[in-house]
Amino acid sequence: DTETLLKYADTAMYQAKQGGRDAFQFVTSAMNAEVSHRRDLETALRQAVKNGEFVLHYQPKVQLAGGHVVGLEALLRWDRPGYGLVPPSEFVYALEECGLIVEVGRWVIAAACEQIRDWIRRGVNPVQVSVNVSPRQFLKGDLQGDVLLALDTYEIPAHLLELELTETLLTTGTDFTITALRNLKAVGVQISIDDFGTGYSSLAYLRRFPIDKLKIDLSFIHEITHSSDAAAIALAIIQMGHSLNLEVIAEGVETASQLAYLRRHQCDQIQGYYFSPPLAAPRLEQLLLAGTRLPAPERESAVPPAPLPPADDVAQAGDATY
Ligand code: C2E
Ligand code: MG
Ligand code: MG
Repeated sequence: DTETLLKYADTAMYQAKQGGRDAFQFVTSAMNAEVSHRRDLETALRQAVKNGEFVLHYQPKVQLAGGHVVGLEALLRWDRPGYGLVPPSEFVYALEECGLIVEVGRWVIAAACEQIRDWIRRGVNPVQVSVNVSPRQFLKGDLQGDVLLALDTYEIPAHLLELELTETLLTTGTDFTITALRNLKAVGVQISIDDFGTGYSSLAYLRRFPIDKLKIDLSFIHEITHSSDAAAIALAIIQMGHSLNLEVIAEGVETASQLAYLRRHQCDQIQGYYFSPPLAAPRLEQLLLAGTRLPAPERESAVPPAPLPPADDVAQAGDATY
């Protein structure tokens, strides 16, 4: 019937567009299953926004000079009824596709600021918290307004908030994006480039955009000890960052030998399971209060990372199970 035919044609067209321009595509049953999965996911996500089912976990960033925690990255999880904690790799793309990322992104910024205020009020040493920002929040939302409102509502100093941007935003960014970022930077908000080295890197944007920090993508870090190419890329990023007066942080540090390489080459900060996975706020707070530090270099090979608080509720791939 006409209705089904049109629906199938639409599905195929969507798939063809996903694969780039000038393509054609036959409908397959797998495609229909994929479409209905996406529809169910979207419905569940709309419900999740209404019911407030999102939570933030926080992963420490450690300064290599001194070994102390200097920042946290807020990472989104979906506490989906009947599924447990769902990682962002399973739903952030869907939030982006259906536009809900603007609303959820606004919530992330507000929730991170509220958490910072809470820690300040309760005397937990305030550290900078970064949030991930999707390009859509600039293009379809009002990121500048969202950030300023949250800083104002929770009365926190702007330098305690950092935005992690992707290279995609910088390469597609308009003058409007640059102005918004400059305005935020002018009030003190910090700006970093996430997953650096994996996008369509145009080095020109490092001069055009008001950037404070580069985050070396974890795919390079995972290979630095056994691929000379990855090691050379990581080193080049550190040196280039420093020449441009930017701080450099390595993501996804899991082993003592990765850490040793980064120390040797004067990387500023590290983030990764070696020190701590992302943790729910109460456990992260315990870590901050305990003043947990990275062991000094000479002890690294002999001493495992400092112990973290014991297990309670959440167990999830990648996140703390203790
Ligand atoms: P990202 O911003 O690059 O975050 C780092 C990811 O690496 C996190 O995954 C973190 O758990 C993981 N990770 C940290 N240390 C290690 C390690 O030592 N080894 C390995 N293998 N992985 C490590 P997560 O939390 O699953 O987040 C994945 C991505 O989802 C993030 O990558 C970010 O792009 C996106 N994301 C997370 N939260 C948000 C959000 O609030 N908004 C938006 N737009 N995207 C988000
Ligand atoms: Mg990030
Ligand atoms: Mg990253």
